[in-house]
Amino acid sequence: MRFEYLEPESIEEALTILSQHPGKSKIIAGGTDLMLQMRNKAIRPEYVVDITRIPSLDDIAFDDQRGLRLGALTTIRALETSVELQRKYPIISQAASQLGSVAIRNVATVGGNLCNALPSAETSQALVALSAQVRIIGPKGERTIPLEGFFTGVGKTLLQPREILLEILVPESPPHTSGIYIKHSPRGPIDLAIVNVTVLMTMEPDQKVCRDARIVLGAVSPTPLRARMAESVLKGKRVDGALIDRASQVASDEANPRKGSIRGSFEYKKEMVRILTGRAIREVAGLREGVLE
Ligand SMILES: Cc1cc2nc3c(=O)[nH]c(=O)nc-3n(C[C@H](O)[C@H](O)[C@H](O)COP(=O)(O)OP(=O)(O)OC[C@H]3O[C@@H](n4cnc5c(N)ncnc54)[C@H](O)[C@@H]3O)c2cc1C
Repeated sequence: MRFEYLEPESIEEALTILSQHPGKSKIIAGGTDLMLQMRNKAIRPEYVVDITRIPSLDDIAFDDQRGLRLGALTTIRALETSVELQRKYPIISQAASQLGSVAIRNVATVGGNLCNALPSAETSQALVALSAQVRIIGPKGERTIPLEGFFTGVGKTLLQPREILLEILVPESPPHTSGIYIKHSPRGPIDLAIVNVTVLMTMEPDQKVCRDARIVLGAVSPTPLRARMAESVLKGKRVDGALIDRASQVASDEANPRKGSIRGSFEYKKEMVRILTGRAIREVAGLREGVLE
């Protein structure tokens, strides 16, 4: 396959190239998804636009007012190993550590992971749970939208062909908030998830009553799925074994996996959602399995 490889050194230059070749150009960051799609002839861009020479798109920045900012070119390995991220937003580092091998994580970027928009994509679940927003630039200027609404289907997002994802904005979490990310994949991180579950809970200061909850399910619907009914089962309630069982069952009811998936049957995926959601809530609430009142 023949294509022209272009390496803009500024956002403006990249936008000009994308506007000159609408529908024929494709952005490349780490290339771990794009190169496979080109090799499989799933896409045939005439122009491949490498954005990795554009400065400042790989920063991880913390701000007391605005929270966390992740440049789109931040590698998955940087998310995994950033000590400050591990301390302030541990579920992002946990999720990153579960993506592929170290070799893949060294080049794969968070922007690529989000723009590729697989329902099992590692970083999207944790970032949706954290109410992240994405900042996008295009020929008509900039826009910032909630990440949850960014995904429109399997491999599909709101991003237009002439637009670039610049950064991901994550607000500060309220006090007494903690979370966990669980990937279910029998072959470990190297394989895509059969199901992944993120639970983020804000507890009352006594740590027994759940003030707020986010449950995000991956690989069980075309886009990352907020299990809102399961979240409302938890909100305002004392977290005990019976409540966890109810919330996990409701999360499983909300999951809508594709029938005929090679990665697990409809019934298997729903059952794994129930088990993993229960396990995640127990861990976050500090309850050990088997010793619930
Ligand atoms: C062996 C292997 C194992 C893998 N395992 C996992 C896994 O366990 N979990 C998982 O989630 N993924 C996995 N992946 C997929 C892949 O590594 C990730 O999705 C990765 O984060 C993609 O990032 P990238 O920078 O390589 O994206 P690229 O391949 O460069 O780009 C992906 C897509 O996003 C677009 N894009 C990239 N950056 C931008 C931007 N800033 N603005 C606009 N569009 C952009 C590109 O045009 C392209 O369509 C695996 C891949 C391989 C090869």
